[in-house]
Amino acid sequence: MRLIVTGGAGFIGSAVCRHLIADTDAEVINVDKLTYAGNLESLGNVGSSRRYRFVKADICDEVAMKGLFAQTSPTAILHLAAESHVDRSITGSRSFIDTNIVGTYTMLETARRYWSSLSGAAREDFRFLHVSTDEVYGSLGTGGFFTETTPYDPSSPYAASKAASDHLAVAWFRTYGLPVIVSNCSNNYGPCQFPEKLIPLMILNALEGKPLPVYGDGSNVRDWLYVEDHAEALSLILKSGQPGETYNVGGRNERTNLEVVKGICSALDQLNPDGVPHARYITFVTDRPGHDHRYAIDATKLERELGWRAKETFATGLSKTVRWYLENRCWWSPLRNGVYGGERIGLVNAV
Ligand code: NAD
Repeated sequence: MRLIVTGGAGFIGSAVCRHLIADTDAEVINVDKLTYAGNLESLGNVGSSRRYRFVKADICDEVAMKGLFAQTSPTAILHLAAESHVDRSITGSRSFIDTNIVGTYTMLETARRYWSSLSGAAREDFRFLHVSTDEVYGSLGTGGFFTETTPYDPSSPYAASKAASDHLAVAWFRTYGLPVIVSNCSNNYGPCQFPEKLIPLMILNALEGKPLPVYGDGSNVRDWLYVEDHAEALSLILKSGQPGETYNVGGRNERTNLEVVKGICSALDQLNPDGVPHARYITFVTDRPGHDHRYAIDATKLERELGWRAKETFATGLSKTVRWYLENRCWWSPLRNGVYGGERIGLVNAV
């Protein structure tokens, strides 16, 4: 396997690259523009592998993508590059439209032209895995789960841009026969997540004795998956998933945001006795505009058809994650001090 991984310097993409190099024989070509969210430090010792190569490029650049396919002759594409933060999409949506929609179009179309030039087993075995989110399905009430047939109903500019990209991916399968597979995953957490997302932001604020801003009354529910479980799911879907199919990925770990923040505080109370009790920093703030109430994934299809199981529970994954941030200050302090210091973004009146 010779895989192009787009967005491989991001949170999930770097976990995918680490998994592919450590646990498979695949060659990995990591294609990343290195936006504020991309960080080569997240690749660990992957960079020293002879099976790994990094290419700094924008997935919207048709000429660069065409050249990349011609030079590397990939057997599959794992497409993760995206703008990924809902709050940023509220404050400024342009880059979400560019990367998530136009960038995905560019990858699909470049892949289609390349794939059309293949023959025999190379053409038969080629795959394009488009990595997406459960946010495309909109909000659930107190009951029910998202399945692969749940209608799309996105709320935020981020979710709408990912929904658009999913539709393009499916259209390239139905219209051109490009062997596309789509995965829709719940909220990820774990090492190397940019400290603007809920879990790392709360860990770092609590460590620094800063307010822990919980949106609204903290009752919004998300379904959490440890990032390494997601990386393994993607690897399995690429290997055994059926072209034209969608697979939902989730760890059956529903938690309210307030439960998540309290869980982080309890973990820190054990590991960072100086700050006890960290829960004193919890502060309720104005809710996110258009904040979906509840997400919950039914991953039965992935479990039953491909035999996937999440390895981490929320308790074990959260404890590993808190420890990782405590032990890897050198990874996050340049980001915290130079790129994003934790200020509130995504309020409509701030546009
Ligand atoms: P991330 O923001 O951490 O990383 C995105 C990466 O893409 C960065 O390395 C960035 O430099 C790169 N990138 C952005 N624009 C680019 C461009 N134009 N060209 C090339 N590279 C570009 O995101 P993430 O959390 O790792 O998410 C990865 C994918 O998984 C996204 O498609 C996202 O929608 C999806 N997803 C994320 C979650 C989650 O909880 N984080 C859940 C489900 C699905």
